[in-house]
Amino acid sequence: MGSLPSFSLPVIVTCPGKTPFCEKYCYGLKGFFTIEQIRKVNDRRLEATLSSEFTDIIVEEVLQTRAPAFRLHVIGDFYTPEYVGKWIAIAKRLKEVIFFGATRSWRCDFLSEPLKVFRDLPNVYIKASIDRTDTLEPFSCGWRVWSVEGRGTPCPHDSGKVANCAECGLCWTVKDFDLCLKLRWGNRLQYLYPSLIT
Ligand code: SF4
Repeated sequence: MGSLPSFSLPVIVTCPGKTPFCEKYCYGLKGFFTIEQIRKVNDRRLEATLSSEFTDIIVEEVLQTRAPAFRLHVIGDFYTPEYVGKWIAIAKRLKEVIFFGATRSWRCDFLSEPLKVFRDLPNVYIKASIDRTDTLEPFSCGWRVWSVEGRGTPCPHDSGKVANCAECGLCWTVKDFDLCLKLRWGNRLQYLYPSLIT
């Protein structure tokens, strides 16, 4: 992410749109994100999202960063319509800040409409996250995507062309494109050719 701030939540429990890929490959289940201190921070964040003061607190925190763009979510996802509604309120109050990232919650009927409202705000650059284990497709609903080894422009960080998202800017300055990310962990061959490799 470089200098860009972000907000995350605990994985799986906040991921109603998770796919078989998520359960197997999610980086939120590995390494740094499994450190107890980090897990506790994300648990506290989840608790905070339930507060009626969440919107005010986040607006204040984002303003203090003075960053041009804010990432949702490095791990975790949109888990209820009420939670999406809070981010809609935040983005409407902070029109000068870009909110970007990707979500698999586009797959959930109960989140689809509020997520589209959030997605279509002028300062929100959020895409549907997809992978090869998914049987649904988001294109008929107007989504652009972040794919894992699928459709889209290759992420320049994957080939070492940029140091981080702050330096790159592609995902938070261009709305209408699809991004392809490399699978950089787990068994890539098994992911790409599941019927050939067990
Ligand atoms: S394309 Fe750029 S902004 Fe998007 S994930 Fe890759 S490095 Fe980050």
